[in-house]
Order: sequence, then C-alpha cells, then structure tokens
Amino acid sequence: MGLITVVTGWLAVVGCKTLVASGSLGPSLSLARGEMAGPALFCVVAVVVACERLWPAQARPLLSRGHLVDAGYLALFAAAVVPPLTMVQSGVAIEIQRHASFLVLNRLAFAPRLAIAGTVLVGVDAMNWLAHRANHRFATLWRLHALHHSQEEMGVFTTFRTHPLVHSVYLVSLFPALVLSASGGVPAAAVIAYGCLVTLPHANLRWTFGPLGKVIVSPAYHRLHHGNTYPGDGRAVNFGFVLVCWDRLARRAVFPAGSPVTTGLSGRPVPVEQEATLGHLPRTLLDQLAQPFRRVTALEA
Ligand SMILES: [Zn+2]
Ligand SMILES: [Zn+2]
Repeated sequence: MGLITVVTGWLAVVGCKTLVASGSLGPSLSLARGEMAGPALFCVVAVVVACERLWPAQARPLLSRGHLVDAGYLALFAAAVVPPLTMVQSGVAIEIQRHASFLVLNRLAFAPRLAIAGTVLVGVDAMNWLAHRANHRFATLWRLHALHHSQEEMGVFTTFRTHPLVHSVYLVSLFPALVLSASGGVPAAAVIAYGCLVTLPHANLRWTFGPLGKVIVSPAYHRLHHGNTYPGDGRAVNFGFVLVCWDRLARRAVFPAGSPVTTGLSGRPVPVEQEATLGHLPRTLLDQLAQPFRRVTALEA
C-alpha cells in the first residue's frame, strides 16, 4: 500500500511540475474536469436517477444512506480526485516519453483517425478489464477495491464509490492512447461518452439490454459482479466495464437470469453506512477511506 501511495505521489509531482512549467496546468485541469466530471456526466446521472425511481431493481428511498454516501463519493471525485489524477496521468505520459519512448508507435499514415480513436477506446476497455481483474486477484489491490464492493444499496452513484488510490491501478488504461499518440487521439466527446457508458452499469435497474446485453455491460450484468455470494476471490465474474467480450474470452461472463441479487460484502469487513446513523455518515466515509491502511483480517482471507 505504501509503495502505491509513494509512486502515485511521485507521478503527481512530476506531472504537476511539467504542467506548471509549460503553462498548461489550468487548461489541462479544465479539460480533464470536462471529460471526467463535466455537465454531460451529471446529466446522465440525473436521468439514470429518475429511471431508478421509476423502475428500480430494489425499491428504496431516494435519500437512503447508501445513496447519500455514494453521492458524497461523486462530490469527492469531482472536487478532489480529478485534479491530482490529471497530474498523475500527465506524470505517466512524461515518464514514458523519457524512459520508454519505444512504446510509442510511429505515425500510421494510412489509418483513418476514426479507426485510431476506436482502437484506443477498445484498448482502454481491455486495460480497464485487466486492472479490474488485478483488483480482485491481488490482496493489496483488493483492500482498495473492497470499498467499491461494500455497497449494499447499489445505484448509479456507486460508480464513484472508489478509493482515490484505485485510480493508480487504472493508469494502465492510458497505454493505448500513448502507444498510438503519433497517429491521433480520441475526441473529447467520445471520451465523455465512454465515461457515461461506464457509469450506467451501477444503476439500480433491472435492465439487461436484451440481445445487446451479450455485447455491452448492462446494469443487471454488472450487478452479478457485485453479488455478495462472490467475495474478492477467484470466483468473481463479470469484470467488464463496457464490453462483455473480455469476460467471455476469460470464461468469466455470467448473464443475468431471475431476480436481482443482493450486493455488498458478507460480514461487512469494510465499515458501511447501513450500520451508521445519518449524523455519522461523513465519519463513515472517512473510515472507509482509511480502511485499506488498516489490517483487516476478513479482507485478507
Ligand atoms: Zn470488482
Ligand atoms: Zn462496480
């Protein structure tokens, strides 16, 4: 845990120093805010919340403790995570240019920009799958990821219920864009659309997407990943972010059938808001963020 913290902090310093030196800190932060936590994302979240009220997988009050705490994680992400994460991402790009420039391919002159953008996005989704798989495979990473799985009242806000250090694992998703950077990038609108698609699977909805659900991750499909019969061990299924194909290739795809499963972690090894009073919700959120740095026997199992 200490190593992840130190390396992430060092990348943030490298990224911050370079962005400040080039005078692009402000523009980079506002671009990142627009892509990761901009108006489009908040509009999608608002629409999904309305759908959750109409067609919930599990009926519960709008202001349930789970929703309130996960909304707190969204606020934390937009206000306090996006800026340092942008610096860390810049740090990764700079260190690759300095020490591993062989990873960057020469310009592919005959590849259309659309094909490059599509390839990058599919690559990003594959890297996200790999990182998510690692979060369940390795004990140290699971201690960070368990917070996400501890939600017993899953809804669209649960997308943002992540420990800030988890984003360090997902830095591998930068590689497709870095490798193909000489040939073109991904338009901001496509990045935003991908972010919205990643947000939808946590919705408290029964939606399976029908035949499309065999290709695209649906709320019902991702709910099975959060089922509390699958703790952070080798039996976990449905790791996909947007595309189902990675789970199918790894024989880890289970398609929804029957009633929505309950979510959360058996035995509550992570402090959960369902055990707290309304007045103690901020304290519970802080306890959840501190939990990976404590030794929790139940999470080590
Ligand atoms: Zn997971
Ligand atoms: Zn999830």
